[in-house]
Amino acid sequence: MKEIRHFINGEYLGSDSGRIFDDIDPASGEVIARVHEGGQAEIDAAARAARDALDGEWGHMPVAQRMELLHKVADGINARFEEFLIAECQDTGKPRSLASHIDIPRGAANFKIFADLVKNVPTETFHMDTPDGAGALNYAVRHPKGVIGVISPWNLPLLLMTWKVGPALACGNTVVVKPSEETPQTTALLGEVMNEAGIPNGVYNVVHGFGPDSAGEFLTRHSQVDALTFTGETRTGTAIMKAAADGIRDVSFELGGKNPAIVFADADMDKAIEGTMRSAFANCGQVCFGTERVYVQRPVFDEFVARLKEGAESLRMGHFEDEGVNFGPLISQEHRDKVLGYYRLAEEEGATVVTGGGVPDMDARFGGGAWIQPTIWTGLDDDARVVREEIFGPCCHIRPFDDEDEVLGLANDTEYGLAASVWTRDLSRANRVARRLEAGLVWVNSWFLRDLRTPFGGSKMSGIGREGGVHGLEFYSELTNVCIKL
Ligand code: NAD
Repeated sequence: MKEIRHFINGEYLGSDSGRIFDDIDPASGEVIARVHEGGQAEIDAAARAARDALDGEWGHMPVAQRMELLHKVADGINARFEEFLIAECQDTGKPRSLASHIDIPRGAANFKIFADLVKNVPTETFHMDTPDGAGALNYAVRHPKGVIGVISPWNLPLLLMTWKVGPALACGNTVVVKPSEETPQTTALLGEVMNEAGIPNGVYNVVHGFGPDSAGEFLTRHSQVDALTFTGETRTGTAIMKAAADGIRDVSFELGGKNPAIVFADADMDKAIEGTMRSAFANCGQVCFGTERVYVQRPVFDEFVARLKEGAESLRMGHFEDEGVNFGPLISQEHRDKVLGYYRLAEEEGATVVTGGGVPDMDARFGGGAWIQPTIWTGLDDDARVVREEIFGPCCHIRPFDDEDEVLGLANDTEYGLAASVWTRDLSRANRVARRLEAGLVWVNSWFLRDLRTPFGGSKMSGIGREGGVHGLEFYSELTNVCIKL
C-alpha cells in the first residue's frame, strides 16, 4: 500500500503523532494509499523551513535564475505526465481525457506563465514637482510577501494548487501547502519534481491533513505564515478569514458559486447545448464555475430542455481508463450524500425531474463508488433552495425567461458572484448583459476558456481579490515606494 508523507524542507517525513488516514478511490470505494496526518508539530516544522528558505539561497537568488528553476518544475511535471495523470485520476475518479487536457497541462503551465510574467512586469515610476524646482522621483520596488499558506480543494487538485504556488514562488515567496484530504497524491508528487528541478529545500512544503483542529486550521493560525490563499467553500473561507485577522494577514479567496447560464433565442443552439453540457456535467459537476442555473428564452425553451436531456443521457460513466468514458463519480460518499439530499429536496420543492435524480446501476467493481446520475430539473420557484444553494454536483435547473431585464434580475439574484455564461449571436447584447452581470468571470458563447493573464476570482460571497496575470502579483508581493529627492 502506497504511503503518503509530508514534504518538509526537501524531505518526505512521517507525522510525529503517527496518525494516518485513508486516501479512497471514489470510483470503487477502495483504499489507494495511507496518508500521514499533520498536526501542530508538522506545521511548525514546515513554516520554519519556509522562513529559513526565505532568509537563505532562495531569498537572495537573482530573478532570472528563479525563473529558470520554475521552468524546470513545469518541464518536470510534463516529463512525468503519465504519473501525475494516474495519481490525479485515482484520487478524483475523473476521466483520463479531462485530466490529460486540463488538469496536468495546466498544472505545468502555471509555473511557466507566472515565471515569464514576473520577468517582464514593469514597476511604476512617477516624477513629481517640488517647490525648489528640482523634483523627486518615485518608484515602486516589489518584494516577496513572505511565507504563504496555500489551502486547496479536491476538484482540480494539481491545477488549483499550482495556480497559487506558481505565482507565489515566481514572486519569491516560499509556501506551505495543505492539499485536500481527499486528493493528496499530486501535491505530494510535486515535491519530487521540486527536488529534481533544484528548487532549494524549504521553498515548497506540504503538510497533509484535514481542516478544523488539524493541519488546515494550524496553518491558518501560524504566526510565521504571512498570508493565506485559499480555494474552497465559502463557509471555510469565513473560518480562515477569522484566523487571518490575528496578525492582520492578507487573504485571497476563491470560493463557491451558483452560476447562471443565459441562453437567448438567437444563440447558436448546437454551441449553447455543447457548452452547457460541459458547464453542468464536466468533472461530475464539481467545477467552481459550473452552471447550476440555466435561463433559456421562451421560444427555444422546449428544444433546449429536450436536447440537454438527450446529452445528459448520452454521457458515458465508467473507470477513468475505460474507452470513451466522459463521466466519473463524485469525490466521496459523503459528498454524494449531500448531492443526493438536494436531489430529494428538489422533488419536495416541486421540481419536474427531466432526467436523472438518483444513483445509476453500476457493475460490481464500482460497488463502493460515489456514482450519481446527471440530473436536470425544471419548474422550481426562484426561491427554492435547490435554485439558491451551491450543490456542486452534476445537476442544473432550467427556467424560461422573456426579456433581458427579467433574466438579469434572475441571474443576479444570488449571494454568489463567481461566473456566468451568455449565449447569443448579438454581440451588442452580449456586451450589455455581461457588464450588468454580478460575476467575476463572464463567458460569451463559451465556457472555461481561460487565458492565464486575465483576472480570475469572484465577487459577493464567491471570493476576495483577483489572481491571474499581474493581478496575482498584487497579492503575492509587497510594494515599497522609494522617493528620491533630486
Ligand atoms: P472545503 O472548503 O471543504 O475544503 C477546501 C480545503 O480547506 C481543504 O484542503 C480542507 O481540508 C480545508 N479546510 C476545511 N476547513 C478548514 C479550516 N477550518 N481551516 C483551514 N482549512 C480548512 O472545499 P472543498 O469541498 O474541498 O471544495 C469544494 C468547494 O470549493 C466548492 O464550494 C467550490 O465552489 C469551491 N471552489 C471554488 C473555486 C474558485 O475558484 N472559486 C475553485 C474550486 C472550488
